[in-house]
Amino acid sequence: MAMMENTAIVLIVITLFFLVIIVGLLTVLIFKLTKGSTNLVNSSQPNSGEAPHPDVSKTEFHPGIIERMKEMERFKPKRSELFCPNHPDEPGEVTCGICDMLFCKACIKPFKSLHFCKEHIPLIMRHEWEEVMTVKTSTQNPEEGVELFEAKKRLFVDKKIPTYIETHYKINVDQDYIETYLVVLAIRENVDSVKKYLIESHP
Ligand SMILES: [Zn+2]
Ligand SMILES: [Zn+2]
Repeated sequence: MAMMENTAIVLIVITLFFLVIIVGLLTVLIFKLTKGSTNLVNSSQPNSGEAPHPDVSKTEFHPGIIERMKEMERFKPKRSELFCPNHPDEPGEVTCGICDMLFCKACIKPFKSLHFCKEHIPLIMRHEWEEVMTVKTSTQNPEEGVELFEAKKRLFVDKKIPTYIETHYKINVDQDYIETYLVVLAIRENVDSVKKYLIESHP
């Protein structure tokens, strides 16, 4: 009986011993496999050996792409631009149709289909505004609309000429799609110069 118990214990010890060895071997195998795969990734890149540094990967971009990225940075709103210019603690929620700045709800009023800041609401009220041009945009060519809004911003920032853009939608029932028209409006005396600027800025 004691003999049987002893062999059972020996068997258990041997089994445990092999289990430990198997687990150890598996760990080594897995470690080698993962190391091998990272080596594979590294070898596909030139100048391997060192971990890729963010600055190094940046210089790998085409100069044209870097230029475009810098260009995009300019359009990114700065932190200060995310808050109402009159209330630095209030987040800006609505953009003014004239100056394109973000204002809190207390500082901006709806008028027609747009919103205007306190500075520009009187400008809208006191002048005769006329249609300068209408641009039809499509989902196939949304660039056209983006260009128009950028030209409008430049007109205001660089030339101090205020304009606003109304968006009109027309549902084409037959063909079941929505047409978008962007209508540029300017103060009557500026209509000609705005038209000239927009045509010239649009190649
Ligand atoms: Zn404004
Ligand atoms: Zn405000």
